[in-house]
Amino acid sequence: MYQPREGRYQKARYNRAGRSGLMLPQVSLGLWHNFAARSDYDNCKKMLTYAFDHGITHFDLANNYGPPPGSAETVFGKILKDLLAPYRDELIISTKAGFDMWEGPYGDWGSKKYLVASLDQSLARMGLDYVDIFYHHRPDPETPIEETLDALKLLMRQGKALYVAISNYRKADTEKALQYARDIHLPILCNQLEYSLLSRPDFEDQQQLLTREGMGAVAYAPLAGGLLTDRYRNGIPQDSRIRTDGRFLKEADVTESLLKKLAKLDSIARERGQKLSQLSLAWVMAQAGITTALIGASRVEQIEEALEAAENRRFSAEELERIEQAMR
Ligand code: NDP
Repeated sequence: MYQPREGRYQKARYNRAGRSGLMLPQVSLGLWHNFAARSDYDNCKKMLTYAFDHGITHFDLANNYGPPPGSAETVFGKILKDLLAPYRDELIISTKAGFDMWEGPYGDWGSKKYLVASLDQSLARMGLDYVDIFYHHRPDPETPIEETLDALKLLMRQGKALYVAISNYRKADTEKALQYARDIHLPILCNQLEYSLLSRPDFEDQQQLLTREGMGAVAYAPLAGGLLTDRYRNGIPQDSRIRTDGRFLKEADVTESLLKKLAKLDSIARERGQKLSQLSLAWVMAQAGITTALIGASRVEQIEEALEAAENRRFSAEELERIEQAMR
């Protein structure tokens, strides 16, 4: 029987998501990669329990994570049932709908039909009565935002989602959503956005808006899928994401220009007593308005390194300037 580590909350830090009552850990773990049907189940269990044992209370999923789509939720549901179910009240589990999930006109984008059906499917796959956070995964240019938000409100009312949120909404999309959300008294917990040293505008454009409106910001892919680590500095390892699941991360992303930037970042990291991955992650956590850095991992050691990074996330003005120069 799994027994969580005593003292797991002593060192961990939590940030409030905007002006909500919900605290999220400094580092959260996403199951986009490495929790698929074909993934090593023992390794999945080890990563989740290691995370939970060290104060990571938040696990992020989506209907389509896998492959095949849905399988990450199935794997997560099995681990919950086998190990973590007694600790359900200590967990923040999120899922999303908004990308292509099933055939026909009702399995994609932002209609009420899709969102309601998809959350029911997600709950069934995970064996849950409710998720803590349900996201609309991307803005839908065709469906009225009123319909999408009405669907989120319905799911909250039904108790299937405790909080609702948006993801990949650019500033104008967020403004539009907030306008209607105010009318229907719907609190939108946060916007989940890509944010790393290689991907800044989506968050930076709306950082002030999110803070002013009391919304949290979840920074996903803070290591740019592994590009902002040592992973690809000496070739493409066989066990890396590019080789094992190159659907989104490609060999062509490892450019000469990137490698030069990484070399400069690495020397700053060493001076701080950190690894490159830790500097990249600490930089994200150091930005004003970030509620949590949502990482991915293929092994326990990567989670361990991420947690260590959280302990040294202050930068001097000089270090920040050197990082800016390195990225130019
Ligand atoms: P990261 O940028 O954190 O990349 C994680 C990958 O980087 C790992 O799988 C591993 O790759 C590599 N890595 C991690 N730590 C280290 C280390 N210390 N040293 C070397 N390599 C390391 O995030 P992800 O791209 O995985 O995304 C994280 C989460 O964000 C997702 O699971 C999902 O929950 C969310 N997300 C949300 C999206 C949205 O649209 N809302 C879109 C994308 C992600 P390797 O396998 O090579 O070891």
